Amino acid sequence: MEKMTVSPSLLRCPVLPVRDRVLFPNLHVPLVVGRARSIKAVEAALKGDRQIFVAAQRNMKVEEPGRSDLFEFGTLAEVLQIINMPDGTVRVRVLSRSRAKLVDMTFLDGYLWGDVQLVETPSTSDEDATHLEAMRRMVLRKFDEYVRKIGRVPLEAPAAAHQTPSVDKMADLVSDALLISIEEKQDLMETVEIPKRLSRLVEILDSEIEILNIERKIQTRVHRQIEKNQKEYYLNEQMRAIQKELKQKDDHGKELDDMRTKIKDLKLSASTEETALKELSRLEKMAPFSPEATVIRGYLEWIVSLPWNTLSTDDVDVKHARQILTEDHFGLDKPKERLLEYLAVLRLTKEIKGPVLCFVGPPGVGKTSVAKSLARAMGRQFVRISLGGIHDESDIRGHRRTYIGSMPGRLIQALRKVKTRNPVILLDEIDKMSSDWRGDPAAALLEVLDPEQHKNFVDHYLDVEFDLSQIIFIATANSLYSIPHTLQDRLEVIRFSAYTTDEKVAIANQFLIPKALKEHGLAASSLKVEEEALRKIVHSYTHEAGVRDLGRKIAQICRKVAVALVQNGTETSKKVVVALKDLNGFLGAPEYLREKITVNSVGISTGLAWTDHGGETLTIEVTTMPGQGKVILTGKLGNVMQESAQAALSLVKSRGEKLGLRQKSFNKTDLHVHIPEGAVPKDGPSAGTAMATAVLSALSGRAVRKDVAMTGEVTLRGRVLPIGGLKEKVLAAYREGIKEVLYPRGNEKDLPDIPENVQKALKLIPVDTIDDVFARALQSSSVKAILPHRKSTHIAEAN
Ligand code: ADP
Repeated sequence: MEKMTVSPSLLRCPVLPVRDRVLFPNLHVPLVVGRARSIKAVEAALKGDRQIFVAAQRNMKVEEPGRSDLFEFGTLAEVLQIINMPDGTVRVRVLSRSRAKLVDMTFLDGYLWGDVQLVETPSTSDEDATHLEAMRRMVLRKFDEYVRKIGRVPLEAPAAAHQTPSVDKMADLVSDALLISIEEKQDLMETVEIPKRLSRLVEILDSEIEILNIERKIQTRVHRQIEKNQKEYYLNEQMRAIQKELKQKDDHGKELDDMRTKIKDLKLSASTEETALKELSRLEKMAPFSPEATVIRGYLEWIVSLPWNTLSTDDVDVKHARQILTEDHFGLDKPKERLLEYLAVLRLTKEIKGPVLCFVGPPGVGKTSVAKSLARAMGRQFVRISLGGIHDESDIRGHRRTYIGSMPGRLIQALRKVKTRNPVILLDEIDKMSSDWRGDPAAALLEVLDPEQHKNFVDHYLDVEFDLSQIIFIATANSLYSIPHTLQDRLEVIRFSAYTTDEKVAIANQFLIPKALKEHGLAASSLKVEEEALRKIVHSYTHEAGVRDLGRKIAQICRKVAVALVQNGTETSKKVVVALKDLNGFLGAPEYLREKITVNSVGISTGLAWTDHGGETLTIEVTTMPGQGKVILTGKLGNVMQESAQAALSLVKSRGEKLGLRQKSFNKTDLHVHIPEGAVPKDGPSAGTAMATAVLSALSGRAVRKDVAMTGEVTLRGRVLPIGGLKEKVLAAYREGIKEVLYPRGNEKDLPDIPENVQKALKLIPVDTIDDVFARALQSSSVKAILPHRKSTHIAEAN
């Protein structure tokens, strides 16, 4: 129970209830007064002895408080000044004097009157003084801390508190400054005894400081949390931005994943897989559309599209193969036999060994199509690599992967196309490769064909090993002559020769015509080309060893037939027959009307040549004129042919006497040797016999038999040496209607190659020396005295 001193005298004064504060004693404070009653009370006080009792309202919502609505304990204050504010309120400056207690209250003259009793602060005893001082310091220290921590109390408050000598006043000052509830303040107000009030203050300050500490802790934690959240948010945002920056990250990632799966599925060798995956991980780190990424992506696409482990199953049934080869081709018995042997060996050894087959022969004789048939018979894929015109090693071996657009070589390209690792690859026109400073493709090819090396073939672009050992390579060439020797060593030559007219006619009937009809959508029965007409086409509309042009002519006829049938509206029913007389209508005028020697002539002989396109007859003309013994050669003759002309001349001169020529006159006669079709280059030694014959004919005036053709190299002593391509030459002679062919005895071994019907139709005479040739080719008597001159050497003897 608290002790208090109650003054015996009650004081009567106006009462000012306040809603939101407890007025502690000894303070100068401004109060805002708004309620009419209160304004009146203040005014009344001012008019009177300025005393007014200020008490806090228990419930601030009450507009017109009665006695019980006010706290009993309040402050007796002095009204110092009133200022009327424009909004109708009044600002009152008061000086609170001392604690007081409301004893009674009445409402009178429009405001509250109260009977109040002053409450004096009890004095403290001396022994309490030290304790009080300790309490004072504690309160001040805690108040300092409180002010520092709360941050919302003006700093003047602690300063004033420190300077206030009276503990009582200091306690009230501190109590006023605290930001605590009205109830707590009222409690302090009512705690009149100083030590009690101080310890109450310490309690409140402790609790407030504790609360502030906790608050601060919470705040730091919250702050930290917010910071953490913000950081996460920020990082997430950044990550999103990075992903966005790495654009199409998702697509790109998917593409890479696909690629990885594909690489794994390929079951590559360990080192190849490692290389591929390394490239893939490089790609992962790159911006998807950078040039470098494009290069790597291109590379990986090559890797995944190659048939590393895809093989077609071989069918090496020789019987079946024979059937297919016969089905697809007429004749070609030798090549077919050789291919069947090859298959038989393959079947036994199960390994592709030995030299690479090389089909040598003129164009259009079925080299490609036989190779295709072989692939078909074996159930392998077929792909052709054209080597014609290649002069760069990288065509075979690929470009290094240093720039955009670099590519693997043609082999790897071909393998990607066929999608199996064991196709038949046709190395077409192997003789048409050349080499230059960029390297030698033949050397690269050699490596490809070498059984020791081709298991581990490394293309520069791929830069990993690829196994080529299961591939069947077949090369083709028109002539062996321009294939480098090193390469020839690896090849087994299978010759394909020119076709005779009969063979061509048969091929046309059995293959070309049915195929062309099918290609043109015509019924098999809708066209018949009579044999005579076919022969004419072969002779006068084409000029070739093979049947390519023949095929084109047949296609031309088919187009005309198609137009005719469609126009007449009788697509299927009608049959068109092409007879000899119709050819002009279908094919126009004949293209090859070759000049034929129709009479025995002086100075004109018929030689035989062998070109890439098969055999040809060659007309050799020699004329004499007055001069100084010079020789003129024309007709675009190659070096070897020029030399052979010189040799022929020397030979004739050296035997002049024996041949009945007058030696002296050689010095006064110029000779001109010409081989017509001057635009076509010609070379080779095999026209030797024909040139010697023409020269002797020109010099002696003995005519050459028009139906004799000859071939053979001659020595200065007059021996006749063997030549190449006898079959082609004989066929050409046969085609041109020659009756007798003089050939070197050394070529007798080639006779079996010549079709029997041709052998029957022609007289094939082997010769040993040039004298044998002269004896058979030249007529015995001269037409005229030859030397000195005649007007023309082309005087024909009617025969
Ligand atoms: P190459 O490769 O020798 O130049 P191809 O193989 O391309 O010639 O032959 C040209 C055309 O002639 C092809 O349509 C081919 O079918 C046909 N051909 C060639 N020889 C024969 C043959 N003996 N039997 C059937 N068709 C043939």
